[in-house]
This record gives sequence, structure tokens and C-alpha cells, in this order.
Amino acid sequence: MTIEQLFSRHHILFDGGTGTEYQKRGLPVGAAPEEWIFANPNAVKDVHKAYVAAGSDVIETCTFGATRDRMKLAGIQSSVADLNKRAVELAREAADGKALVAGSVGPLGGILEPYGDLAIDDAEKMFAEQMTALVEAKVDIVLIETMLSLNEALVAVRAAKNAGAKIIGVTMTFEPTPDGPKTSFGESVRDVVAALENESISFFGSNCGSGFELMRVVANEFRAATKSPLLIQTNAGLPFMENGKNRYPEAPQSFGGFAKELADLGIQMIGGCCGTTPDHIAAAGINIKR
Ligand SMILES: [Zn+2]
Repeated sequence: MTIEQLFSRHHILFDGGTGTEYQKRGLPVGAAPEEWIFANPNAVKDVHKAYVAAGSDVIETCTFGATRDRMKLAGIQSSVADLNKRAVELAREAADGKALVAGSVGPLGGILEPYGDLAIDDAEKMFAEQMTALVEAKVDIVLIETMLSLNEALVAVRAAKNAGAKIIGVTMTFEPTPDGPKTSFGESVRDVVAALENESISFFGSNCGSGFELMRVVANEFRAATKSPLLIQTNAGLPFMENGKNRYPEAPQSFGGFAKELADLGIQMIGGCCGTTPDHIAAAGINIKR
């Protein structure tokens, strides 16, 4: 499949949660999934393959936290470039031509100036280091996700463009507030749309968050505010503890129903986040036209 074929589809199905899938396969809660790129590559490929088998048109590399400071904090020894390149190879091998590969880029883990002490220049350098590796390894899409601040998202977009990424997507995470959904930094969906439309990237939207109820509001606000292609990757609700394990409230069937709601609303790209599984993605695939 080529990127042109992908974007000619009626709807595009992304993958679902990966961190939670690794935990099922033995990754300790709190450990960085990126550790498994070199320590347990077969498990990483297994998760990718399960999503391809479930019908994902796009799978995301295991590189959400593969930036310098986060890797250092996680105690990962390999270089940023090596880890990101290997992660793309694993995803590409698992996709086996049936799905495209998006390079996942998460927040850097610090707070950018003027609110925190992470200098904009340093932030851009860290994003650039990761994205250059992703682009050199030929990812189809650079997906900047779970962004909590528009400021950081825009620095990441600049780094992606400078790294030569052709297809760039950005998804922001919102929280419920009395004034509707806002990012941690108080930005509304309208603020996000205004800023990202200005960047002429390929698509944007929202991921993670607090469950279907808030994401329904977020998706409606996005659709009302823009004609741009949108990606919504919701989690399976907020986790709760049961017998010492994290459990997520939304079952595959209810996720499938929510995917249909999103598709009917005109959301072109749909996937899952924390707690969603290949079964959730398969249930979504049944309900949306591609
Ligand atoms: Zn999530």
C-alpha cells in the first residue's frame, strides 16, 4: 500500500494501545516500552502483527518516548538514532506490505519555557534527533501524539518539517473542564485547529484522554471547526485496579460502536490508545467503511 492509496480510502484504521499490550506480554508497569526494541524485538513485532491482522491500515512504531531525555530517564543505553531506526525496521517487517508505518513521537517529558525550564532550542534539537532517524528509516508518516501543549506540538512540527518529513500528523490530548475540553495548558479545540491549520500539515486530531464521553465532545468540536482530515484515537476509558491489575472499562464491542459514531461524524482516521487491543481495532474495522 502506498500513502496515495491510503489517503484515497473512505476511512483509515490506525492501531490501538501498545504499552498495555506489552504489559500483557510481561513488560513491568512503569517500564519504558522502548526497552523492548533491542531486549525483546519479537514481542514488539508480535504486537504490530496482531494489529495488522486486526485490520490496521497504519501501525505506529514503538518510539513514543524515544527522545534523548526520556531514554536517559528510562536507563536505555542505545543511541536515539539506533533505537528509532530499529523500531521502524521491526514495524516494517511486521507490516509486510499490508500496513503503512507511522513514526510515533510523544512529548519530551519536560515543560517548555516560559512555563518550565526546557529551552525551546533544546526541545527542537531533541525532536530533530528522533525525527531525522525516523525519516532516514523511511517512515510513511511522522505522528506527533499525546501533546499536552500547543507550544510543544508546534516545536515538534517545525522539527519534523526540517527533518524532511512529508506526511505529518499531530494529535493533542484534552481534559474535561467546566469550559469544555482543554489541553493541560488551557488550549481549546478551536485554538488547536487555528494553530495547526496554519502549519499545513496532513492531518490532526486527538488521542488518549479520559474516555468516550469527552472524546465525543472533542471530535464534534474538531469536525465543526475544520474541514481538514482528522485522526481520533481514544483510549478504552480510564483504567481502574482489579486484582492488582489495570483494567479498562470499554470492551471491544463498545469501542466498535464508538468508531462507527466517529465515522458517521466524518472523522476519516480512527484508532485506539491506552487499553485498546487488537480485538477493539477489529471491532472498529467491521463498523467503518474503507
Ligand atoms: Zn493513551
